[in-house]
Amino acid sequence: MKKQNRLYPVLLGILLMLALTLAACQKQVSEETTGSTPTETTEAPSQTQEAGKTEKKDFFDKVFDTSEDAGRLTVRYLYTSTAFMMNGERVQCGDAVVYKSPEGKIMMVDCGNPAGFDEFDPQLQAMGIEKIDIFVMSHPHADHIGSFLKLAEKYPIGTVYYNGHEYASNTYQNAKAYVLEHNIPFILLKEGDSFKLGESVEVTVYNPEKGQTDDVSASYADANNGSIAMRVVYGDSSFWTAGDIYALAEERLIETYGDAIHCDIVKMNHHGNSTSNGKKFVEGMKPKAAIGLYEVIADKTVALRYSVKGALTFYNCQDGAIRIATNGDGKYDIQTQWIREIDYYGKPSADGHYTLE
Ligand SMILES: [Zn+2]
Repeated sequence: MKKQNRLYPVLLGILLMLALTLAACQKQVSEETTGSTPTETTEAPSQTQEAGKTEKKDFFDKVFDTSEDAGRLTVRYLYTSTAFMMNGERVQCGDAVVYKSPEGKIMMVDCGNPAGFDEFDPQLQAMGIEKIDIFVMSHPHADHIGSFLKLAEKYPIGTVYYNGHEYASNTYQNAKAYVLEHNIPFILLKEGDSFKLGESVEVTVYNPEKGQTDDVSASYADANNGSIAMRVVYGDSSFWTAGDIYALAEERLIETYGDAIHCDIVKMNHHGNSTSNGKKFVEGMKPKAAIGLYEVIADKTVALRYSVKGALTFYNCQDGAIRIATNGDGKYDIQTQWIREIDYYGKPSADGHYTLE
């Protein structure tokens, strides 16, 4: 009897564990079946969930094939998908873009969140990158400079440009300390500045606004609106990158510069959110292509705004990594990693290849 008394609770325990495991499995299955809405913020990327369901064509090798890079400005919008928890807050995947000049100079603008490095490092390796000549911190948020220490420890960096915002986060302060300790030139950029990437690619800066103090932290209530905005120009070809600026900064730029600020290829501001990418901006830019870097399509209206205005529209959550190359003649050769499964903002091509005249 004594023996039975001891066994009884053990058996009960085992039965309870089995029941709990079954319940958990069922919950997982029902979540996978129903999928997630674009506004949900699950840790797993929606693209990876989809990948399990259908055989997805993957043109990774084409996107990162560098055999045709010589003589062209080639821009690669890297794919990152992993969100990261930092100080109790969820940091979404973020921006990471590599510009390669016709002679092979490398400029990287932003480097995603701290978890993003493991995702984009294989992409840098596939390109054969050994050093980064110029690194631009668009602004000090963790979804833009979160992987900086890992990046800088693996790849020597020639020069770092920043927007002057002395942000009080460990991410920014540690990145800055690393740059200064390693005697990497740390140069503030603001409206009116310009520099070259290699011999023939001109980069002009439009934000943060001229006339502000060198330290923009006092002038910008929100770090996003002080992001570095740049036109990257090679001959007749032009690319726009402006971190997370809001409609407020967009409108100032359109009013100040008018048509002169037009770019053929626009990286959507603030990951394609509706805080940005306003009607005036999209109409003023008249882009031939627009790229949103985010874990989901941040805002359908923004996606449609670009596509209705005639821009081929891409999102790395649907199209994967994206390569856009140009000879400087205003024509563009585009390759996406995946064939997107939704087409409300434009039908995908069967091989992920597009040409823009
Ligand atoms: Zn951001």
